[in-house]
Amino acid sequence: MHEYSIVQSLMNRVEAEAAERRATAVKALTLRIGELSGVEPVLLTTAFETFVEKTICEGATLSIIRVPVSWACPRCERSIVQGAFLQCPECSVPATLRSGDEIILERIEMEVPDV
Ligand SMILES: [Zn+2]
Repeated sequence: MHEYSIVQSLMNRVEAEAAERRATAVKALTLRIGELSGVEPVLLTTAFETFVEKTICEGATLSIIRVPVSWACPRCERSIVQGAFLQCPECSVPATLRSGDEIILERIEMEVPDV
């Protein structure tokens, strides 16, 4: 399942960050997920909850920010509305995807003991 492999690579990154800062627990994660990334937030949350058992992220909350799809002309940078004809009316070149296919780990909140 797509979502499980995403959670797996996410966890690898979070664990590396946590180890680097000697964190004892991860409290919250925030992800930015583009509408075109093919990720279902509900499935991702389920995968996350299954995956984090017995890891440093156990009990952490997962927040997902949905990023809307946006297109733009590669030549003049004019933004082109999704659903419209995906071509620049000025330059007659096809629009390119600006955002909407990303999966980004935006924020990690963790518990770091005072030394
Ligand atoms: Zn243009």
